[in-house]
Amino acid sequence: MLAVTILGNNSAIPAFGRHPTAQAVITLEQTFLVDCGEGTQMQMNNYKIRHSRVNHIFISHLHGDHYFGLIGLLTTMGLLGRKVELHLYAPPQLIDVINLQFKVSDSHLPYQLHFHPLNGDDLLFEDKKIRISSFKVFHRIDCWGFLFHEKRFLRKIDAQKANRYNIPLSFYENLHRGEDYLTPGNTLIPNAELTVEGPHATSYAYCADTGYNELVSEKVRGVDVMYHEATYLHEFEDRAHARFHSTSKQAAMVAQKAGAKRLLLGHFSSKYEELDDFKTEACTIFPQTELAIEGVTYLI
Ligand SMILES: [Zn+2]
Ligand SMILES: [Zn+2]
Repeated sequence: MLAVTILGNNSAIPAFGRHPTAQAVITLEQTFLVDCGEGTQMQMNNYKIRHSRVNHIFISHLHGDHYFGLIGLLTTMGLLGRKVELHLYAPPQLIDVINLQFKVSDSHLPYQLHFHPLNGDDLLFEDKKIRISSFKVFHRIDCWGFLFHEKRFLRKIDAQKANRYNIPLSFYENLHRGEDYLTPGNTLIPNAELTVEGPHATSYAYCADTGYNELVSEKVRGVDVMYHEATYLHEFEDRAHARFHSTSKQAAMVAQKAGAKRLLLGHFSSKYEELDDFKTEACTIFPQTELAIEGVTYLI
């Protein structure tokens, strides 16, 4: 199970009740925080995102609308008595900012903060359930997107058939992994006769702040859900280009080229109060488009 709760969907400054960028990518076991704009910890409270489930935080780049909420959140975690170590994946310069902020206030975290500087297109985290990697995108300063891939699920055993062939319980693990079964009488029972596919392993791509670039679609090919920024509507394509941002139509083109199943649009400019046109424009190119709305959890 993979889901994403939107905590902030605005760019640059808060406006019309919308907050700077932050998202919680949720699995059954834990929550991964992606970007941490100002107000993120309040939004986490509003939408019941528990600190104790967050052990990994990913910061895409060092524009303030993506990390000005971080020092507050790290401090709050400490004040609440956190002891569990926390992993932070971020542009290399961020550790200097954090260290300076703690130094001038003579503050110390009661938990271990492991800092992992982002570099290129790298594997950042992996466990039995999920793989998380970074990819460079095309912004005015160094900026990375993040790709969340659930690992393939094991095959499900058809208990009736397994009983019929008297498969010993000790062989069930092998069946889950796709192995055929050889009976004591030397008859080969194909795995497909005994099992069915496990659930689909889903994937989510967070494409961060980026100008329009087809290379982004290469990096997230085939994802189930792609979040892509759409700071402006099509009418401001020139401005988007000049500021290394994208329009709704450009986000839709990237989703289409990537072969994504669904597109989530966010990072809206504070010049727009109404957001419906973003969806309308994108849908002319990529119909499976939704707006990333704060407080909404999207199942991947
Ligand atoms: Zn931004
Ligand atoms: Zn930016």
